[in-house]
Amino acid sequence: MKAITVRPNSIGAEVRDVVVKETLGRGQALIRTVMTGICGTDRGIVSGKISFAYPPEGYSFLILGHEGLGRVEEIGDGVATLKKGDYVVPVVRRGCGQCLNCKIGRQDFCETGKFVEAGIRGKHGFMREFFVDDEKYLVKVPEEVKDVAVLTEPLSNVVKATEELLFVQRRMIWNCEDSTFECRNAFIVGTGPIGTFFAMTLRTLGFQVYLLNKREPSETERYISEKIGAEFYDTKLGIDKLPDADLIVDTSGVPEAFLPLMKKMRHNSALILFGTMEGEKAEIMSDLVTEIVEKNILIIGSVNASKKDFQGALNYLSIWRYRYGDVLNRMITSKVEVEEAPEVLSKKIKGEIKTVIKWS
Ligand SMILES: [Zn+2]
Repeated sequence: MKAITVRPNSIGAEVRDVVVKETLGRGQALIRTVMTGICGTDRGIVSGKISFAYPPEGYSFLILGHEGLGRVEEIGDGVATLKKGDYVVPVVRRGCGQCLNCKIGRQDFCETGKFVEAGIRGKHGFMREFFVDDEKYLVKVPEEVKDVAVLTEPLSNVVKATEELLFVQRRMIWNCEDSTFECRNAFIVGTGPIGTFFAMTLRTLGFQVYLLNKREPSETERYISEKIGAEFYDTKLGIDKLPDADLIVDTSGVPEAFLPLMKKMRHNSALILFGTMEGEKAEIMSDLVTEIVEKNILIIGSVNASKKDFQGALNYLSIWRYRYGDVLNRMITSKVEVEEAPEVLSKKIKGEIKTVIKWS
């Protein structure tokens, strides 16, 4: 079958015919891929800037792709929740089988680090015509959002991080006097798909949201921020005009982008670190450390998501379809053919929010 592959220690991706040893077993389903999303991690692997990617045992190549959407082609014995024709999204991380979190489906909190991740570490991804997967790793997609369900995986990570935030902020009373979060300001650093999803999720929870980038918004970004009721702010104008923050979410991975904003942080506020980038540097002064201590500032690192977060993401997609109209469709800024994918994987499309590859 056709697949998009990378090889360790070599730059670039290629479309080629591959043989993958998979047979449909008990509790499994054969999935025909419909769409796969392209994200920064894929591009990092293709450009060789991400060093942690590696092929599954017994293979000299890795099939890319962790943002999948497919359709059930055939089910194995014992499959209870899926039938032929269902749309599904596969989860990315597969547990170590040893630690307690992995045993209860929370491999996003794996303690041993011996997990694999489809299309990233030790497991083939979804940029291929077909794949076989366990029912427990497949999330059923509601009919009304199947056209945008390729966005489920990136959103699932945002759902998980937001849930963590709300959980740890129960250390005190963080709600406003009217019980909502409407008195709370959130800064989102970076306006890619993850930043946009944080903005939409936090707006849905009631937060006042500022989407920050060091440039003016594109036409699509302007449209989306207006539609969801967030303010797009160009940090080149200086940060003094911004209000104080109860929450900063960094999706850039660039310390220089979020550290200066930290002086805006209120008492008991939180910083979520979500973006990663290799080789970026910034200095931290002890004054900032004092601020973090004196103001009870919380710093949360968050990665990956569990199956229930994928379900949560699909619930949000259903709500937003109704509330924000065509915003989700407009986030998918290009759909490319499989043959075009290697080029798109090596270079971002201008004005891109999310580029997806069409498979069937
Ligand atoms: Zn584990």
